[in-house]
Amino acid sequence: MNLSKSDINKISEISKIIKQSKTFFIAGHIKPDGDSIGSALALASVLNRRGKKACVYSVDEIPKFVKFLKGSNKIKKAVKKTDKFDCAIILESVNFSRTGGIITPSQTKKIINIDHHLTYTDFGNVNYIVPSSSSTAELVLNIFEYMKIKLLKHEAECLYTGIITDTGRFQQVNTTPNSHIASAKLMECGVDVNKVYKEIYEKGSINALKLQGLALYGIKTILNNKVSYILLTKDIFKKTSTSEGDSEGVVNYTLRIDGVIVGCVFKEVDGKTTKVSFRSIRNFDLLKVVREFGGGGHKNAAGCTINAGIKEAVKIVEDVLRKKLKIK
Ligand code: AMP
Ligand code: MN
Repeated sequence: MNLSKSDINKISEISKIIKQSKTFFIAGHIKPDGDSIGSALALASVLNRRGKKACVYSVDEIPKFVKFLKGSNKIKKAVKKTDKFDCAIILESVNFSRTGGIITPSQTKKIINIDHHLTYTDFGNVNYIVPSSSSTAELVLNIFEYMKIKLLKHEAECLYTGIITDTGRFQQVNTTPNSHIASAKLMECGVDVNKVYKEIYEKGSINALKLQGLALYGIKTILNNKVSYILLTKDIFKKTSTSEGDSEGVVNYTLRIDGVIVGCVFKEVDGKTTKVSFRSIRNFDLLKVVREFGGGGHKNAAGCTINAGIKEAVKIVEDVLRKKLKIK
């Protein structure tokens, strides 16, 4: 990858901190995805191989589709309040607390912040933020290359998982030449692309498929058919004996309808809380929408949590989208 001078300085700073530190806390955001888990596991494995003590943490259950990655069964949920670390590597998080409060910043000497979201803050001692990168995994690979670290097959598979899940298998608008270059390098480290693909995308239960079927059957369009939305109610999960992880990816169907600019999935958390996932076509900036609800993400893939029941949340989002799409 062609790195800018400023990126090289940041990577060099990261490399220094890594060399100076012995104990590492590594975490991505709550409700982790393939990129945050893949990047975190690759980092932990490499650091442990170099004689460091590194562990990955996640307050939330990790998605089923990353459970084939080596080390995923060693991810911990919590640490003691008295535990201290030399370095916390925080991935894909707008601030320290988006990791879910497993540790406080006072429990670590140094903080390395690595992110590719447009919504970010400089909360680390080093902040390696590249919003144009399709995935955090690509940024982690840059660090390994700078440090001249050769990856083992299972480490490469972790990063490859980050790239394919965050680019939607190389078809989303965030896919760059570097997503392919990085993937080619990872293949040279032995990634079995067919195995990884099958593990991630073709290993669901029959119930997960029924959940998606039921959810898709209920898809609606509003605002002159420019917006589509899917409701994932508690009832749908109950009917199909599934859980949240089984609905992974359903949001990507929302843009398949001709003329749709924004697609949404509303997930009922409880009577007063709804999580919303958004996808949009190239020119529509979702950050202008999710910022109104304290959410974040990327221009064409973003999310937020709304403090309202699912039906109310649909109305609230519809009103905001009506304004942004300039529909009367
Ligand atoms: P999702 O729809 O859950 O796949 O999320 C799409 C993108 O938006 C991802 O990059 C998420 O990290 C980001 N995102 C989702 N929900 C939130 C939130 N509540 N706050 C900040 N970013 C979010
Ligand atoms: Mn990511």
